[in-house]
Formats: sequence, structure tokens, C-alpha cells
Amino acid sequence: MPGTNERDLAFLLDVIDWDGTALSLKPDSEIRAQCKAHADAGLTWVMTGGLHFEEPATFDLVEGARHICRLLDEYGLRTASHHTIVPVFAAPGEDQSAVQDVMRRVVAVCAELGPRSLVFHPGRPAGRHESGAGINATYERIVAASSVDAVIDVARANVRVMGRAAVEHDMFIALENLGRFEPLADLDTLPRLVDAIDEPNVGYCIDSGHAHAFGTPVTEWLDVAGARLFETHFHDNHAGGKTAYPQEGLVESAPSVDEHLPPGFGTIDWRDVIQGLDRIAFAGPVGFELSGWPGMPLGEGLAHAVAWWRTLIRMGSPGQRLTKQ
Ligand SMILES: [Zn+2]
Repeated sequence: MPGTNERDLAFLLDVIDWDGTALSLKPDSEIRAQCKAHADAGLTWVMTGGLHFEEPATFDLVEGARHICRLLDEYGLRTASHHTIVPVFAAPGEDQSAVQDVMRRVVAVCAELGPRSLVFHPGRPAGRHESGAGINATYERIVAASSVDAVIDVARANVRVMGRAAVEHDMFIALENLGRFEPLADLDTLPRLVDAIDEPNVGYCIDSGHAHAFGTPVTEWLDVAGARLFETHFHDNHAGGKTAYPQEGLVESAPSVDEHLPPGFGTIDWRDVIQGLDRIAFAGPVGFELSGWPGMPLGEGLAHAVAWWRTLIRMGSPGQRLTKQ
């Protein structure tokens, strides 16, 4: 298949600040400096995040999204994916209209930015959560009073509404795998949810770090996603999940486990990952949940990250394919 080796790449570009109280738009000068670094590294796609209704904002979200889009446009950049936060379900039996209303509003806001995909975590219950542990505790309380199947059923109906709103704007909905870090995001539950939603524009964002942290091969997730892979969050770690969390069940993510290292700095076999992308004919762009390279200014770091990935692709190309020892 032509072109698979040269998939476009995308890296994080920060547009929103969070001071613990409210969301605010980063100053234009800071956004432009990042845009310039991405464009100088030869990139045409970026990954953004932070537009949502879970926290108060100091700016109008629709206006903010339009403004960010205009700034990216100045540098010929487009958003591959926007990482938002939405409630996905209220307790089964309860009215779901407030959840669906937030989902529609998020789609309307993000459409102004024009990402290919909207990424979010699929297991967030409605309500106020102070931490990942709070999300997990609320989910477990809801499941204890109903069942996992009942929660998947209400989540299915809600995300389907969101998917149909997103398709009006040519956007994919990409539900992120989180292993045991959050609900409805492991190999057992997330495929059940996506299959039940059964909308052509609703699929997966595969986060390599969340897979590898618990010892699941990234390629296993890529195969599960198949043609429904709409975005990747690629980064590396040392698969410390099993040691750090010997207990069963949901656990709160820790930076010591979900290290968010650039590819090559952890223990993921990236040649397998590239072959996995080829196997499912993923068109790209390949998204990296990174802002460059450790200890380097953004522009230099992006250039390093791009060069590393391109080198690995070249080393694995036909006729020169690396073989495992
Ligand atoms: Zn991620």
C-alpha cells in the first residue's frame, strides 16, 4: 500500500491553561510560538485539548475555538484530534438528557476548531469528580446498584447521540483505552461499548502507554480497533502497572507508571507497533501525546521526535526489515 510508511505525524500543541480554578486561553504569542515550532518541523497536524464544560472558563468556548482555529490556520496547521471531557452516563434508570445535552454542546464547540476526531475517556460518570479515584469510586457505586451491562447500555445510547451530532461536522468520536485507570476502557469493556454503539464514526483512540502500562501489547489494541482506529496517543513507559497495582480492579493513574516518555525511552517494541498500523492499514496521522523531546526547546524537540520515528520507519521498510533477535 503506497504511503503507509510516510503517515503524517501530530504532536501536542497547548492552547488552554488550567490554574485549578478556571480554563483560560493561552496568550496568542505562546500559541503562535508553538505553531511556528510545529510548522518548522514540517508538521501539518497538531493535537489539542481542553475545550469542555466540566470546569468554568474565562472565555466563550465557541469564540475561543474559532480563535484557536484561526491561529493554527496562519501556520497551515489543522487539528487531528481535540481531547475533550464529557460525562458519558448518569446512573441507569436516571434521566440521561443532561448528559446528552453536554455532549451536543461539546460537539458544537469543538466543531468550530474542526478536528478530525474528538477524543475522550469513555467511563466518566455525570457529576463532579475531584480525581481519577473519584471517577472510579462513583462508577463502582453505580455498578453496585445496577450492573456493568446496564451502564454500557446507557453509555451506548448517549455516545450514539453524540456520534450522530459529530457526523454532521465530519468528526469522528474516538474513545480512549485506559486499561484499569478508568472505567469502560479495558479490553473487556471498551470493545463491548464501541460495538454496541455501532455508528460508523464512533471508534477508538489507542493510547500505547495505557496498554503497555498493564502489559497489554499495543498491537492487540490496534487489532481490536481495526478500521475504527481514528486516533493514536503514542508514548512510552516501562510497563510498571502490574507491579505498582497488584490488586484487581480500577486504580488511579500515577506518573511513575504512565510515564508519558517519548517512544524509545520505555520498553514498547515500536517496530511491532508500526507493523500493527500497517496491518490494519491505518491512514494516519499518527498522534503522539508528547510536546517534543526531554530537555530541549520545543522546535528542536519536535525535530528529534520526527527524525526518530522516520528513522525507525526506514529501518523497518521492505528489503531492510529488522528481524527480532
Ligand atoms: Zn492518552
